[in-house]
Amino acid sequence: WLPMGMLAAALMIGVVVWLSRRRLSLAGELAIAVRRREFVVHYQPIIDLQSGRCVGAEALVRWIRPGGKTLRPDLFISIAEENGLMTRITEEVFRLVIRDMEDLLAEDRGMHISVNLSASDLKDGKALRVLQCMLAGTAIDARQIWLEATERGFMDVDKARGIIEQAREQGHAVAIDDFGTGYSSLSYLQRLPLDTLKIDKSFVDTIGTDSATHKVTDHIIDMAKSLNLLTVAEGIERQEQADHLKARNVDFGQGWLYGKPMPVPEFILYYRRNVAA
Ligand code: C2E
Ligand code: CA
Ligand code: CA
Ligand code: CA
Repeated sequence: WLPMGMLAAALMIGVVVWLSRRRLSLAGELAIAVRRREFVVHYQPIIDLQSGRCVGAEALVRWIRPGGKTLRPDLFISIAEENGLMTRITEEVFRLVIRDMEDLLAEDRGMHISVNLSASDLKDGKALRVLQCMLAGTAIDARQIWLEATERGFMDVDKARGIIEQAREQGHAVAIDDFGTGYSSLSYLQRLPLDTLKIDKSFVDTIGTDSATHKVTDHIIDMAKSLNLLTVAEGIERQEQADHLKARNVDFGQGWLYGKPMPVPEFILYYRRNVAA
């Protein structure tokens, strides 16, 4: 058994080395990608659950690697954060969203777009100042850009509160994203001046199942209502989920039932169909 055990250990070490090498080389490529502007933003429709109409979208970044392969954000955001590259990616996302919004607002002046902030954007107000500069001189009202942050960015809660206050002073609504997936979601609700609560997909998944967790989903909705927060449910895939959330007066929803993230020309066509319907 000894040689087998050693072989397994050697294999394990090999895999770990390979993975860390891959992260390192991705980090290097990311730095280049920022300079070469290899990122695009896709838009996932956000639906007013009561009226069934599309009211805007969430902007989700993708990295188009040289060669054409698309990399989803969960594969590179953490590497970007670890390597101090996230601020520049956030700024690039702002630039792309503002460029696209010129076309989107031609469709509807009232549309809003949600943009994700990373934990590093909540450490100082730099990203927000950049956003403010970029918006100056455009026809876009800051109220049309909503910001989303997960509680990973709220560790230093006083700092996070300052950044959120700054965002709201600039006119942006701020959402707590992936609500309920972290350790201290509840305490942040009390301590941060938030506008919106996004119910994580893992809770939406339980609707219509007989697991006990579906009751938790209802309690989250009730709690958000009692705190006067707008509610957005994410990851809606089945009509049954949409019906339940609508009956519970959740304000907005997004998910594959309505539409996957798509490039801006496709989203504009989607929007026209959806509003005309
Ligand atoms: P998120 O903010 O929770 O975004 C929702 C994710 O769920 C998106 O994945 C979306 O494509 C996916 N999704 C939406 N509806 C459904 C559904 O019905 N079923 C399923 N299975 N999935 C659904 P995506 O685009 O891969 O993004 C993953 C995460 O990466 C995001 O999670 C967000 O945390 C982060 N991210 C994306 N874009 C940005 C960005 O520009 N900046 C930062 N800081 N983070 C970003
Ligand atoms: Ca989000
Ligand atoms: Ca989310
Ligand atoms: Ca999520």
